[in-house]
Amino acid sequence: MTVPKAPLWHPFTQHATEPVPLPVARTEGAFLVTEDGRRILDAISSWWVITHGHRHPAIAAAIRAATERLDQVIFAGFTHEPAERLAEALVRLAPPGLARVFLSDSGSTSVEVALKMALGYFRNIGAPRRRIAVMEHGYHGDTIGAMSVGARGIFTAAYEPLLFSVDPIPFPEEGREQATLDALEAVCREGDTAALVVEPLVLGAGGMRTYRPAVLAELRRICTCHGVLLVADEVMTGWGRTGTLFACEAAGITPDILCTSKGLTGGFLPLAATLCREEIFAAHLSSDRGRTFFHSSSFTANPIACAAALANIAVWEQEPVAERVTHLARMQEERIARFRGDRRFTGVRRTGTIAALDLAVPDAGYLAEAGPRLRAFFLARNILLRPLGNVIYVLPPYCVTGADLDRIYDAVAEAPEVLAV
Ligand code: PMP
Repeated sequence: MTVPKAPLWHPFTQHATEPVPLPVARTEGAFLVTEDGRRILDAISSWWVITHGHRHPAIAAAIRAATERLDQVIFAGFTHEPAERLAEALVRLAPPGLARVFLSDSGSTSVEVALKMALGYFRNIGAPRRRIAVMEHGYHGDTIGAMSVGARGIFTAAYEPLLFSVDPIPFPEEGREQATLDALEAVCREGDTAALVVEPLVLGAGGMRTYRPAVLAELRRICTCHGVLLVADEVMTGWGRTGTLFACEAAGITPDILCTSKGLTGGFLPLAATLCREEIFAAHLSSDRGRTFFHSSSFTANPIACAAALANIAVWEQEPVAERVTHLARMQEERIARFRGDRRFTGVRRTGTIAALDLAVPDAGYLAEAGPRLRAFFLARNILLRPLGNVIYVLPPYCVTGADLDRIYDAVAEAPEVLAV
């Protein structure tokens, strides 16, 4: 078994088949450059975080400038311009009706905050509700609440005693969407559901499973009917990934609560935002201490991260990012076309810039032998790809070139043989 030299505990390193982590010396556009000079094509945007490309110069400059004035500032009783301006910008860009912004520091935390907002809201309006509905195969992070509302499996088995119970509704497979809607109706009719938590359009870690915007619109309608809050976890889908700035736009809906992180700073710094409707915020405003929204954390609204997020938004407004997203979506479609009808792949799909292919092998499980073997195969070709079970997905930064994509898909075309031997 290989063990990293430094006394670090990396994700997944305890698994015997994982290789020693590669030391990255610098990052550049669509590439990670290792200490020994290998240029590795980052085909998954470093876990879906990098949007424009690594180290966008305008964001880097904004971070440098911000450090001339500020570092972390307590965000209780004090505020600062980067946070104020960022909140205004987010409210302007998010689906209409989201009026308040809570800043935190990771996607998981943005979901925890959403859950607390939902429960706090119902308690504070004097009609407490205790249940949370979720979509099957969801992933919302690795903190306790986020794990509780996500799919259970090998990732969560050891921590089961910490998790609370939720009401899962089936994933809306194409042609079986009505079952999902019926299940939501049934759960909502019980009357104790505070919120439905979903990843809009694409379930990321659950295997890049996609469903139609019309289904999301129906989920919205049913939630509204029963006064259930719709929480859209846009941690992965936000900032252009699915073709629009936020995935909810494709369905023409506004969730009651929206979580965003990852691409919020263009991938530079950890920052997250949970946006909500005015009523949810207002329910927490009272002279009664018991109605306060109790969530503080040391790095809430970190000024440097807020400055990075503002610079990211400026990039969106000043550069043709939307065009780049459309162009990447088209390039992806052209390249996955060759796999449609290829019997070695049972599913080929794309939503916006995200493409996914299901290998015609049983889902080997994320930590099983197939995953490390495929990763090693891609890495030998200087490509960073991390299949999810039997799903190979390609989710590159928007600066990726057609030639880089060709290189990725040429390797993908060889992947079935890697597993066959
Ligand atoms: N929600 C979704 C949809 C995600 O994809 C992720 C991370 N992959 C998270 C939440 C958790 O975000 P973080 O890892 O920043 O805590």
